[in-house]
Parts: sequence; structure tokens; C-alpha cells
Amino acid sequence: MTAAIIDGKAIAAELRGRVAEEVARLRREHQLVPGLAVVLVGNDPASEVYVRSKHTQTQAAGMASFEHKLPADVSEGELLALIAKLNRDPAVHGILVQLPLPKSLRAETIINAIDPAKDVDGLHPSNVGRLAAGMAALSPCTPLGCIILTKSVHPSLEGMNAIVLGRSNLVGRPLVQLLLNENATVTIAHSRSRDLAQLCARADLVYAAVGRAEMVRGDWIKPGATVIDVGINRLQDAGGKTRLVGDVAFQEALQIAGAITPVPGGVGQMTVACLLVNTLRAACAIAGLPKPGV
Ligand code: NAP
Repeated sequence: MTAAIIDGKAIAAELRGRVAEEVARLRREHQLVPGLAVVLVGNDPASEVYVRSKHTQTQAAGMASFEHKLPADVSEGELLALIAKLNRDPAVHGILVQLPLPKSLRAETIINAIDPAKDVDGLHPSNVGRLAAGMAALSPCTPLGCIILTKSVHPSLEGMNAIVLGRSNLVGRPLVQLLLNENATVTIAHSRSRDLAQLCARADLVYAAVGRAEMVRGDWIKPGATVIDVGINRLQDAGGKTRLVGDVAFQEALQIAGAITPVPGGVGQMTVACLLVNTLRAACAIAGLPKPGV
């Protein structure tokens, strides 16, 4: 029997619909319109695509979207001044600085300048620390999406063995914290880990976030396990055409896993939807309202 495909596209659409309902309720009952400001420095084509998609989806959810495009040679001082302005702006509840930044800018300095209450990317040290301490925090969007996808298969993750391949600040590390908060038993592996296949073999939940095309092979997976593939890798076929593949050898894993996310159409779809969730949550928290139903 082949694995069930976890439909990230449908789950993200359903989540965006629930966000839009909550946004409409906030507008109706509290005259509050959540606002997201996205800052793009330079003209990296991939970043431009992401920013456009964030803008469209934010507006579609009924939120206010503010785009700030700055030239690649903007000074750190100018960028910090914009962030200070957005921190003060009552119409802005979420601030996202699109990464990566040009090399002339120190990402850490920029992220640290964002008001933690508006840090919808969940990368400010205050949110990182709060998440690690099991406190309420804005959490990074891609790991949040991974948890929602997993829960579409397993409503409770309590006591499950999970392995997270990759320890980046953006994906692997926050994902481990979110899994711990769900009472899973977590192993985190990275480029210095030994015998990844053996570590994966006992995992009920496998999260691949290494940025290595099809590194996780089918025979690493425990029969029936749930596989969440975060990787987005571009491969060129013989004809020079580019195709996207994940960090998991999908066709192999399909034969042995219980459920699996495709690439594209899996985790990637959830990231922007979770950004909307974080903006909604930030707006409620800033306004002193209860946590929304999403
Ligand atoms: P990253 O910052 O490059 O981190 C990669 C991690 O993988 C590192 O911790 C690294 O270990 C580990 N790693 C690399 N090679 C390995 C190997 N051979 N064996 C075991 N571990 C290895 O990448 P990232 O930002 O976390 O992203 C990971 C992947 O997810 C990429 O394909 C990226 O495009 C994708 N991504 C997707 C989304 C989405 O929305 N779907 C969002 C973000 C990222 P060390 O720490 O030891 O170097």
C-alpha cells in the first residue's frame, strides 16, 4: 500500500479561510484590521516572488499589507530607521524582513531591532527564548506549518518518536521546540550526526530540512511513519528543464511511509498561511484581545 499524500495546498487554503473569518470578526467586533509590513531589500528574484505571494495572500485574508522595497545598497542605519517607524506604527502588527539580506547588512542586528510583539517570523531572540522555555511566543512559520500538517494525520503527537534532520534557526531548531511542546520525543540530527538511516529507522515522524535533494531514502523510513519534507531543491533534468524536489526521495518513501508531504504542494504552501496566523495572533495580543480561534 502506498502512503497517503498530505495535501498542503488544501490544508493551507482551509487555514487561510479560517484566518479570513477571524479577521472579519475582529473588524466587525473591534474595528481592528491586522496589518503586515514586509520589507524587501534588493531584487533577489526568489525573494520577490515570495514577497508578492505574501502581499496577495495578506490582502485576500482581509488584512492590511504594507510593502517596503529598499535598494540593495541601503545602509543599515536607514533600514533600522524604517524598522523603528514600523515598530511605532499602530496599523502594523507584524513586521517581516525578507531573508536573505545583502551581505552588507547584519541580519542579526536587523532582526534584533524588530519589536518582539510584531516579530511574525519568530526569529527575535526574545521569541526564540520564550519558545524554548515553553512560553507563549511567535514561532517561525515553516515549523508551525509542519506541526499543522502532522496533526492532520495525528491529532496528538504525545509520546511519538520524531526525528528532525537539520538544525537551522529558521526550521530545525524551532521545530524541535514545537514538537517538545506537543510532548513528542525528539531527536535532532545535522551534518555531523552519524548513521542517519539508523536514527530515522525508529522515528514515527520524520522531518527533513537539510537542503539536500532526495537525501532521505525510502529504506531509512520506518514502515507507516509520517514524513514531512521541508526541502525545496531545484534539479535540472537532461533537457535543461528545472524541477523542484524535496529532501526526501519521494517515490521510494511513498512505498513505505504511512503519510507523506509532496514537493511542491506540501510544507511550502503552509509557510505563508502560518505567517497570516502569526499576524492575526500578534494583532490580538497587541490589542489586548484573547488569542484568536486559529
Ligand atoms: P540551512 O540553514 O542550510 O540548514 C540545513 C541544515 O541541514 C543544517 O543544520 C545542516 O547541518 C543540515 N545538513 C546539511 N547537510 C546535511 C547532511 N548531509 N546530513 C545531515 N544534515 C545535514 O537550511 P534551512 O534554511 O533550514 O532549509 C532547509 C531546507 O528547507 C532547504 O531546502 C530550504 O530551501 C527549505 N526551506 C523550505 C521552506 C518552505 O517554506 N517549505 C522554508 C524554509 C526552508 P549543520 O548545522 O551541521 O551544517
